[in-house]
Amino acid sequence: MTAIQFDPIRLPPEAQALRAEVRAFVRQEIDAGTFDPHRGALLLESNADFSRKVGARGWIGMTWPKRYGGRERSFLERYVVTEELRVANAPVGLHFTADRQSGPMLLKFAGERVKADILPRITRGECCFCIGMSEPDSGSDLFAAKTRALRCESGWRVRGTKLWTTGAHRADYMIGLFRTSAPTKDNRRHGLTQFLVDMTAPGIKVNPIANTLGQHEFNEVVFDDMFVPDEHALGEIDMAWKQAASELGYERSGPERFLEISYVLFELVRVLGSSPDARGAEGIGRLVAQLHTLRRMSVSVNGMLQAGKDPTLEGSIVKDMGTVWQQLLPHKARDLTAFIDGETHDRKRFDQLLAHATGIVPKLTIQGGTSEVLRGIIARGLGLR
Ligand SMILES: Cc1cc2nc3c(=O)[nH]c(=O)nc-3n(C[C@H](O)[C@H](O)[C@H](O)COP(=O)(O)OP(=O)(O)OC[C@H]3O[C@@H](n4cnc5c(N)ncnc54)[C@H](O)[C@@H]3O)c2cc1C
Repeated sequence: MTAIQFDPIRLPPEAQALRAEVRAFVRQEIDAGTFDPHRGALLLESNADFSRKVGARGWIGMTWPKRYGGRERSFLERYVVTEELRVANAPVGLHFTADRQSGPMLLKFAGERVKADILPRITRGECCFCIGMSEPDSGSDLFAAKTRALRCESGWRVRGTKLWTTGAHRADYMIGLFRTSAPTKDNRRHGLTQFLVDMTAPGIKVNPIANTLGQHEFNEVVFDDMFVPDEHALGEIDMAWKQAASELGYERSGPERFLEISYVLFELVRVLGSSPDARGAEGIGRLVAQLHTLRRMSVSVNGMLQAGKDPTLEGSIVKDMGTVWQQLLPHKARDLTAFIDGETHDRKRFDQLLAHATGIVPKLTIQGGTSEVLRGIIARGLGLR
């Protein structure tokens, strides 16, 4: 059996200085009325001006090379920016996916012309990406994807449907996973290729799907003979199975995986007040201790990414435990406040946020890899299967 190895990493001093800078920026934006931190925002709520301001500060693509608009800073510094913007409920939806995973994928697998064109636009907060992996009959099992890309002169013609595509309605680009040939007898994962898709290309239809709260967050995306040029193929043709896993590594390891409804904890502390009874104090103590542990684990994963390691196992543990914790949080908060006055302003806001959080937490088990699938990865990482 393999041991779980979370490297004991602490945030370095430069990350603490950066935290103060991000907090001051966030405070300034809240004071200017750009967004309201006391609101149950969707993870990917967006504001184009805000993303441009974050880009101007150098906080998008901040680990990337300077020649593509990056700042060559560390993953731990990126961690701090992500964490501060998340806990403030900042509207990062326009740039978040590109910053977290699409940009790094282009850096690794796109040709020079595409990189020079798109990466600087991402870092300026001007370019929104979505992820086109899941399909009607292919979710956990990505290798069952059926959307076809057929060779044509100087490129590919795409037909098929992607499903649950978050933010496709506002995205400039998608990184899509398409079938370019049939699986082989020896390797059922063979035959898929990742492509950069211009969402304004003819032959794409984006149909909204409502989430559990009735909001428009994800979509069905239908491709009807859409053309993709050769230079938008990413990496090796038919070999996406080697690439998609590294994308999921970026997708699963960040603090957003346990901070999506952190506002519930902050409001709970406010409602319980400065001298909670023993039960309230014990409840808050437990929740904060659990959050602190998740945070140390996530910092560790980011430190391991910085060191060039592959923390797939550890990242999956953070995502799974983050989901369990977040799904417990609204119940615990309701329980701890059951006998507290229902008329104050703080209490009303708390109840609204709690209702919002309760409505969205079921999706956490599914998005970014289901809990069962993650536990399968963890079991494999431990050598148990
Ligand atoms: C809020 C949200 C946003 C999303 N955004 C995107 C997006 O932007 N882009 C995108 O491509 N997709 C997105 N998805 C889709 C998501 O990635 C898939 O829903 C997910 O991978 C599960 O796939 P599925 O829905 O086909 O379910 P299935 O894969 O059919 O799973 C059904 C059930 O079977 C279980 N199961 C499946 N395989 C195994 C296994 N090997 N071992 C044990 N149990 C298993 C699952 O855990 C689950 O309980 C999003 C989903 C949500 C909820």
